[in-house]
Amino acid sequence: MKKCEPFKDLILTDFIDGQMDRDSAKRLESHLQGCDDCRAFLNEVKVNAVLPFAKASHQPVPAELWDRIKADIENEVPEPGRLAGIIDGLKGLFIFPRLVPVFASLMVMLLVGSIGLNTVQVKQAQAKEQGEYLVSLLSPSSPGDSNEAGGPIEHYFL
Ligand SMILES: [Zn+2]
Repeated sequence: MKKCEPFKDLILTDFIDGQMDRDSAKRLESHLQGCDDCRAFLNEVKVNAVLPFAKASHQPVPAELWDRIKADIENEVPEPGRLAGIIDGLKGLFIFPRLVPVFASLMVMLLVGSIGLNTVQVKQAQAKEQGEYLVSLLSPSSPGDSNEAGGPIEHYFL
């Protein structure tokens, strides 16, 4: 009886899936010829597990079901707005998604700061003194304050 277990396992897995290799099929077949118990088991499995699905597999899925699944999927993922798209693009740069809004607002601050400053100065600063320039922009004082932000840069040119 103990010998039957692997064959019953085989029937319940590979046989049902139709994935049985030739060796297993041969071994199962020869075992079934001498084992009424496993033959009955196989028959039971066929009737209860294989045949119902064999019939069902030929039925087409109703179009309305597909539509409902599609609608559900679309509802789960909201249409990404412009900001959401930008944030999605930045997500790969950060381990913690919570930092993304902080980074986004920093970018806005940098952008506002750049517009407030002389363009040539900004370009020179970015090329040669990027670190100092960024530090000056990130300092607690307002980024729009050109005296504060331009201080180190002016010092560089003098
Ligand atoms: Zn058996």
